[in-house]
Amino acid sequence: MSTQKFDPAMSLLQTAHTDDHFGVNQSINDSATFAFESGQQMTATFEGEHQAFLYSRHWNPSNMELCKSLAGMEGTESAWVTGSGMAAITATILQLCKTGDHIVSSLTTYGGTFAFFKNWLPQIGVEVTFVDIANLDEVEAAVKDNTKLIYTETMTNPLLQISDIPALSEIAKKHDVKLVVDNTFTPMIFSPIKLGADVVVYSMTKFINGKNDTTAGAICASEEFINSLIDLNTGTAMLLGPVLDSFRSSSIHKNLFTLHIRMKQHSKNAMYLAEKFKEYGLKVNYAGCKEHPQHELMTRMMNKEYGYGGMISIDLGSVKKASDFMALMQKKGVGYLAVSLGYFKTLFSNSGSSTSSEVPESYQKKMGLSEGLVRYSVGLDNHIEETFEVIKSCLKELGI
Ligand SMILES: *Cc1c(COP(=O)(O)O)cnc(C)c1O
Repeated sequence: MSTQKFDPAMSLLQTAHTDDHFGVNQSINDSATFAFESGQQMTATFEGEHQAFLYSRHWNPSNMELCKSLAGMEGTESAWVTGSGMAAITATILQLCKTGDHIVSSLTTYGGTFAFFKNWLPQIGVEVTFVDIANLDEVEAAVKDNTKLIYTETMTNPLLQISDIPALSEIAKKHDVKLVVDNTFTPMIFSPIKLGADVVVYSMTKFINGKNDTTAGAICASEEFINSLIDLNTGTAMLLGPVLDSFRSSSIHKNLFTLHIRMKQHSKNAMYLAEKFKEYGLKVNYAGCKEHPQHELMTRMMNKEYGYGGMISIDLGSVKKASDFMALMQKKGVGYLAVSLGYFKTLFSNSGSSTSSEVPESYQKKMGLSEGLVRYSVGLDNHIEETFEVIKSCLKELGI
């Protein structure tokens, strides 16, 4: 497989270069609009005959530098950045679908994505069929004449299911539909484009930025698709206007270059905790464990050196137990009882009552989301064994 040769971190690093004044970091471009030498040049730019920065909702130099790096990391021709992950997801979907079209989506997705599919898209006459993405026959059977795309997350939220991207890509190609993949949980670990996806979307709010100081999103794809998104007359991103601000773009760009080190440490710590939780006798869900139903699939698809990721879930059986446990862990300094992920401190939340609360109970049951599920985004702790001792003391104190 081509991914064995593709190294996202090295490919990313090659996109770093000095700016016009030999600053090692790109200067922040602080302009919403850009001047032209002549009226003719401006007209030519509007008509697509001249390449120049025009207006920041379309392109600006700071966003372009970040996008070059994201495209380098992902192995795509191009990329475009947005003010949130949901902006990246919705702009992509609305670019690919119009009234009367149909989408096949994994039943387990981020709660906001699920709500967009289930509640928002039907308002404009786009229909979505939810499937068990691990059941490839069910996926293919759901594809109809008006299907425009198959949507999934490489590692799904919050059940940490792994999507078989090469197999899904085969189905997509066979039926001439696009495969759109949300890779938010596993940047660098998976290179979905190299595995056959057409468009990769990210919430950069999470691991990519890793600082929880902003929301942001990214779309990585072919130049043709990115250009269609920002077409002055028809582009969804250009016309709905979800662009990322260049100040944030510049700060995320710098954080991006430590992502490979962070992912390795998140993965190392998560693997340690998962093994310890298992030994303790808890019901653990971690793709790095042999018991995980897609452990082998993940091992086959991943860029191995980055590990199995920073996300773990454990099932404590009830909301009450989960909530007492999380409050105690926060009190003892393990991390924060907060939604989101990819932060340097450990974050934990009870998925059913928080980030998946948009998903109705009947669907939660169908996807196997237990009410006592505690989702961990494991932090960058230098001595995770010490952290585990604290977690263990919390479990003991609550008689779990
Ligand atoms: C957080 C998240 C999103 C949404 O991103 P925002 O930046 O919060 O808009 C989408 N997909 C996944 C998998 C996420 O975790």
